[in-house]
Amino acid sequence: MINLWNFVMSKNDITGDSIITKSSQTYRNNYDSIFRKKESIQENTIAAWSISLDVECPHCKYEYDILSETDFWTDTNIKPIEHDTPNSRNYEVECPKCEKEFLVDFTY
Ligand SMILES: [Zn+2]
Repeated sequence: MINLWNFVMSKNDITGDSIITKSSQTYRNNYDSIFRKKESIQENTIAAWSISLDVECPHCKYEYDILSETDFWTDTNIKPIEHDTPNSRNYEVECPKCEKEFLVDFTY
């Protein structure tokens, strides 16, 4: 990094006036604009929702995530974490292991 303070502390060659105050203020403005701009350009870190709807089959005790059904979101009008609504009660599922059907009520 170039040491700009050496430049700032020198006198103006033409007028002989001290340029410390003016130059240091300019330096600070440039410094702020350069480094603040860099910060604002930087992209935010991503935070990912992770939602599962875990159930245990009452027949074979197999545990699985109902959301892993590929057509869950398209075949239902259920919203994420929806529970205690007519929509989220008596939902019929088929166990992917024993292939028996059973009804579930969603809770959160
Ligand atoms: Zn089962």
